[in-house]
Amino acid sequence: MSAEERVYAYSAVLMGSPILLKLFEHDEALAARVFRLIKQYEILLTVNRPQSEVMSINQAAGLHPVKVSPPVFDLIACAHAASLFPESLFNFTIGPLVKRWKIGFRGDSIPPAEEIEALLPLTDPRQVLLDKEACTVFLQQKGMEIDLGAIAKGYIADRVRDYLQREGVTQALINLGGNIQTLSGPPEEAGWGIGLKKPFAAPDALIGVINVRGKSVVTSGIYERYFELNNQRYHHILDPRSGYPLDNELLSVTVISEDSIEGDIATTLLYGMGVEKGLAYLHTRPELEAIFVTKAGKVICSSQRLSSFTLLDSEFQPEIVTDKTV
Ligand code: ADP
Ligand code: MG
Repeated sequence: MSAEERVYAYSAVLMGSPILLKLFEHDEALAARVFRLIKQYEILLTVNRPQSEVMSINQAAGLHPVKVSPPVFDLIACAHAASLFPESLFNFTIGPLVKRWKIGFRGDSIPPAEEIEALLPLTDPRQVLLDKEACTVFLQQKGMEIDLGAIAKGYIADRVRDYLQREGVTQALINLGGNIQTLSGPPEEAGWGIGLKKPFAAPDALIGVINVRGKSVVTSGIYERYFELNNQRYHHILDPRSGYPLDNELLSVTVISEDSIEGDIATTLLYGMGVEKGLAYLHTRPELEAIFVTKAGKVICSSQRLSSFTLLDSEFQPEIVTDKTV
């Protein structure tokens, strides 16, 4: 019997996403505690319900600072820093545009250009005041809304890993709707085999498999949440400069990293940078590894230090970047 056959899988739907927990021992009570932990974080961070700590901040926009719990403050500080990174297309104050487009939710439509134009000034991350001492967040303009959708799952995946470690679990995998975090890997094998989905194909079709041990694997792509109108595809990662879905040569970016929050931030950053700038940026972040999948059918691996990637689909051509090609 192979190690993967001894895996016990537990699933749930939380945060609007399928959640999967894999353990090497049958422990339903532990799985229930993990799902409860995820739910507790969702209650703090969501913007898809009227009440959460993040919604309290949004509701007080233009009025007053709001005190939040330390983990929420830390996550917001992290999102703030990523949004202020030079030329960053990561923007955690993108909320008004996300809400207006409703991509991936019922009622999605193309907003009139003048409405998009009018919302852009409400998406300036420099208009967010953070007070670490008081643990408060203040959106200085009325109508501003923060949206942690790009990083909440990564943050929670790390908290689940920490919880499992405290519980004495040594090997596990948590998949939060595409954000994967792992503890070690199946014994006597190459590690956890994580499928890289083939965009716009059958749900189980894979471009390839990434093998990791004790690492996070996060993918951001244009094929998960989108709608189509007049042969045009509108996906859920928005360009904060224009207010429209980001358009470049990429279908997806996958990041392998220690912490899932780092991977989650980096996928959005790299998606915005595109392949060339993205590879140059990765040069300054040797602790990260990325796999870019382009619309032209190329699979570009920044390195193979943290994982090994096996290409399975002959429609895609691999390209491993060496120092010389950067
Ligand atoms: P998912 O794992 O759900 O595909 P991603 O990590 O790719 O999510 O992030 C997409 C989500 O991030 C969007 O649904 C939206 O809530 C938010 N978002 C959209 N555009 C941006 C942006 N430019 N910067 C930061 N967050 C964004
Ligand atoms: Mg992300």
